[in-house]
Amino acid sequence: MKKKHVEVWERCLAVIKDNIPYQSYKTWFEPIVPLKIENNILVVQVPSQFFYEWLEDHYINLLRKTIKREMGPSGRLEYSIIMDNSTLSQKPVTVNYPTSTHKGIKNKPINMPLDLNKGRSREIPNPFIIPGLKKLKIESQLVESYSFDNFVEGDCNRLARSAGWAVAENPGKTAFNPLLIYSQVGLGKTHLGHAIGLQVKANFPDKTVLYLQTEQFINQYIDSVRNNNQNDFVHFYQMIDVLILDDIQFLAGKEKTQDIFFHIFNHLHQNNKQIVLTSDKPPVELKGMEPRLLSRFKWGLAADLQVPDLETRIAILQRKLYTDGIEMPDEVVEYLAYSITTNIREMEGALISILAQASLNKKTITLDLAKQMIDKFVKNTTREISIDYIQKVVCDYFNIPLDVLNSKTRKREIVQARQLAMYFSKKHTKNSLATIGLQCGNKDHATVLHACRTVNNLIETDRRFRNYVDEIDKKLKL
Ligand code: ADP
Ligand code: MG
Repeated sequence: MKKKHVEVWERCLAVIKDNIPYQSYKTWFEPIVPLKIENNILVVQVPSQFFYEWLEDHYINLLRKTIKREMGPSGRLEYSIIMDNSTLSQKPVTVNYPTSTHKGIKNKPINMPLDLNKGRSREIPNPFIIPGLKKLKIESQLVESYSFDNFVEGDCNRLARSAGWAVAENPGKTAFNPLLIYSQVGLGKTHLGHAIGLQVKANFPDKTVLYLQTEQFINQYIDSVRNNNQNDFVHFYQMIDVLILDDIQFLAGKEKTQDIFFHIFNHLHQNNKQIVLTSDKPPVELKGMEPRLLSRFKWGLAADLQVPDLETRIAILQRKLYTDGIEMPDEVVEYLAYSITTNIREMEGALISILAQASLNKKTITLDLAKQMIDKFVKNTTREISIDYIQKVVCDYFNIPLDVLNSKTRKREIVQARQLAMYFSKKHTKNSLATIGLQCGNKDHATVLHACRTVNNLIETDRRFRNYVDEIDKKLKL
């Protein structure tokens, strides 16, 4: 029989695996060894101090939630760090650290167990508790490191960056209201959104700034409906001076939330409050949005972020290394910037893998080591694929025009291609069935579910069909 700590940790891993990219899971979670459970404290061993800090900086919320889920509200996690494994005869010295609740742990390990209910500093506070009557005090949710200082300028982002800067100098008073920043994933929308918020706070400490992800907004709205306090919800948002809403494409198909956002938007706009939005598409291509809301999005400025050129990519990596106080040979930095051209997040992911690898094996970072790592990384990463991209690949494969794929036609070949597009969208993206349906010919979630079942059945029973699926899958991963 498995030991309890092993079993609990395995269950945690299963949850974690579902919530982060595979590469991150492999890098940061596979090397962790569960040691014991005592007094509902799970002790795990991590390979180095760097490792521990990385986990704390990046996965604290996920860890906290997972531990709570698997071990109950009184569950705790403690780390045991291998201080030196170069002398094998010596038993590893272990230090038990509780999981801290905030950044900056590096110099001051706190000797208190983690309280899962406290210090949820990166989660949105309950918006309905408005302490005091005079001045609204809310947690802005801004991440310090996503500053303008750390946002490298290049041709790829010049317009968006300078518009963002102008907005931060003069919130609500420029023509850029709303300012909508759009791009594919990993190109800096979130970073720029935070940078604007931070800069406003620096320029105007009294202004109320709120950054939030659209999903948080949607969830808060749902809660307010459940608790029957929608008015409080609306009032809360109307008191904000600068509202930064990230990834508004998630509003697609959410009519009620769009409705409420429409009112909040109007109120803020009329009162010269600043609105900053980000999205993965330009406004004209956003689907499932109410026309009146879409027309509002077009009032201000829509600026895009492009894939940076080689020079800018190098500058971004150097900036990152500088901020983290890490040195790396120029040739390695250049090789990295040269090899990874898709987006900045992947490039940073590769950088981190190299650092982790070097730290784990106590090797110095050489071009050879970097090459090995990057080659593996490029091969292993499953890119984030969009529904649009999937549709394009499926259409190219069967040689049908995109508008036919998304039309109402019931012709057999078209239906099948459409079902495949839905199936791959479910498989490769994180979109909900409803969103997939919406984008694939305005169908509902039940149709998408049916499509996935049909495709799975055909894969099992029809060899030729299975062949199609395999070939398209390969093309998607090119
Ligand atoms: P998006 O929101 O578009 O998916 P993010 O804002 O999360 O992208 O950016 C991904 C990563 O790339 C972040 O770590 C961010 O700091 C970094 N990044 C993006 N653009 C720049 C830039 N111009 N300079 C420095 N770092 C950048
Ligand atoms: Mg983002």
